[in-house]
Amino acid sequence: MYKKNAWEKYNETDLNNLFKFNDEYIDFLSNNKTEREVTIASIKLLEEKGFKNLDSIKSLKAGDKVYANNRGKNVCAFIIGKKDILDGINVLGAHIDSPRLDIKQNPLYEDNEFVLLDTHYYGGIIKYQWVARALAIHGVVVLKDGTTIKVNIGDNEGDPVLCISDLLPHLGKDKLEKRGNVTVEGEDLDLTIGHMKTKDKSIKENIVSILEKKYGFNEEDFVSSELEIVPEGKARSLGIDESMILGYGHDDRVCAYTSLRAILDTNEVDKTSCCILVDKEEIGSVGATGAHSRWFENTIASVISKIKGNYNDLYLKETLSNSYVLSSDVSAGFDPLYSNVFEKKNSCFLGYGLTFNKYTGARGKSGCNDASPEYIAKIRKILDDNNVNYQTAELGKVDQGGGGTIAYILANLNMNVIDAGVPVLSMHAPCEVVSKADVYEAYLGYKAFIKNI
Ligand code: MN
Ligand code: MN
Repeated sequence: MYKKNAWEKYNETDLNNLFKFNDEYIDFLSNNKTEREVTIASIKLLEEKGFKNLDSIKSLKAGDKVYANNRGKNVCAFIIGKKDILDGINVLGAHIDSPRLDIKQNPLYEDNEFVLLDTHYYGGIIKYQWVARALAIHGVVVLKDGTTIKVNIGDNEGDPVLCISDLLPHLGKDKLEKRGNVTVEGEDLDLTIGHMKTKDKSIKENIVSILEKKYGFNEEDFVSSELEIVPEGKARSLGIDESMILGYGHDDRVCAYTSLRAILDTNEVDKTSCCILVDKEEIGSVGATGAHSRWFENTIASVISKIKGNYNDLYLKETLSNSYVLSSDVSAGFDPLYSNVFEKKNSCFLGYGLTFNKYTGARGKSGCNDASPEYIAKIRKILDDNNVNYQTAELGKVDQGGGGTIAYILANLNMNVIDAGVPVLSMHAPCEVVSKADVYEAYLGYKAFIKNI
């Protein structure tokens, strides 16, 4: 169903299913705030549904379910289809990193009776949104002996929280005259973590001893850490009608979760189906765990060789060329408070379902994957046949800005790719907004896609 409000079609059973699905998503989002946490949680869900680690499997046949884990930050899962894998794979690809602040390698300092941690922001944040609010630290510290310490300060019952201070308006005359992107400068995003002296310790010495005693690492160990500062607290139902969700990291865990659930809740498939969750999209999909990594190709090569019992490079190339991908990523939902940056005919609206972006990019579609109409026509038929609500969108008015996804990267492997995701308000803010109807329609759409494309 194209360009129709999804809420209108639901009967009571549909609504029960929709709210139950969204409650499960709210839990997933609240409990998993980094790419590492999402990877671990995803593997747990996959194993519960009988997916086996690909490394532990010698040969594969139709109906088998496997997953692969790349460095704990990037995961993909396959259901082996009845058809020859050379006929192509149906892929749902989403990213599991979200904008945030990362702690620097030499972060700890004392300044005028406070101890602070220096940060370097990750991804496209609006800096002034991250000050004067409760924050948590999630991540890992790896010691020289190889021990990995998991850190979560701020999201456990009874934990303290952390914050970045802001200037009071009474003294903000000069600051408030600055342009929005420099009202708060990147180097001013330092996290306050303590200010108590003891009889025998300075403020900083006291903090270091707490880190050692309570968390098991010392100041130098920050060098081999990956610590991310994220908003503390759980995602919540939003609106008196409880129709939306306010939470950190919908971009792009809303598409990651719905894509993963589509695979988890599917049994038999004709064509081999896959869900891949990647890291580093927010900074250009770079690195070994980003979409540009060869890891996905390598993993598909391994799946092919375990199905065929032998391998040559042409098998991989043929498989990739015959594959269909939904690059599952969020889209900018129409916001009535900022209607001037949208072109209404080509905007997506909360509640109207799974959103397709034929192209993204900026300044004349530059840098985008421009999906083929042949592919879009196939998808329209599948969604209409399966009663899924969907819509199409552009990222705002022409020349208003722009953005990218992992679509063009997978398209470079000569796969058929289009962006398809959930509309979001306040994208990249510490708290983003989605409609529960769109979360549910995305799930239904992804399931219909892997079964039918
Ligand atoms: Mn995204
Ligand atoms: Mn993003």
